Amino acid sequence: MRRDEGYIKFSFAHEAAPAPAHPRLHDLMRIRDDLHEWELIGVLPDGIGYGNISARIEGTPKFIITGSGTGLKFPIAPGHFCEVVSFDIAKNSVVCRGPLPASSESMSHGAIYAARPDAGTVIHIHDRTMFGLLIQEGAPLTPADAAFGTPEMARAVGRLAATLPPVAVMVMAGHEDGLIAFGPDPRSARDALWDVYSRSRRE
Ligand SMILES: [Zn+2]
Repeated sequence: MRRDEGYIKFSFAHEAAPAPAHPRLHDLMRIRDDLHEWELIGVLPDGIGYGNISARIEGTPKFIITGSGTGLKFPIAPGHFCEVVSFDIAKNSVVCRGPLPASSESMSHGAIYAARPDAGTVIHIHDRTMFGLLIQEGAPLTPADAAFGTPEMARAVGRLAATLPPVAVMVMAGHEDGLIAFGPDPRSARDALWDVYSRSRRE
């Protein structure tokens, strides 16, 4: 990876549309609200939202994902989701449609769906304790110099995901407290996070 290509700012083309329909939408909403209660998805003291959950539209590279700035929302509603119609990692851009635009973090979700045809759900959360525990345990991690919101991060996430089992949790070393989990369905990705969460609170 060249280091001199500079930071390509995230951009999106957004088409206003009704809330996306998806057979897993209800599962996603329930799991997202659990994660919000555990404070793995939420809002930092400075008002910046963190964390998101997505599900692939079966048989396509497209997915639905919680929209930009929804960290504060509780409970989550269908109108807080959008559909990512396409994305371009090199250009750091997405085409999305729905009531809200997609956030820059949707790039890492897209990278996993592209790298793993078996991945049906991706969940991105922030948690310092889980982050620390997984690093201590030698969990798979993206390079520390792949920074949040960059094509390097999305590429690193996709590359690493391709080497892991069908259900896995990865550490985003260059994205403070950031973890990303994936699995064939929402429940499996959520359970993988719950396992780490439980262990991190026991120690
Ligand atoms: Zn994040």
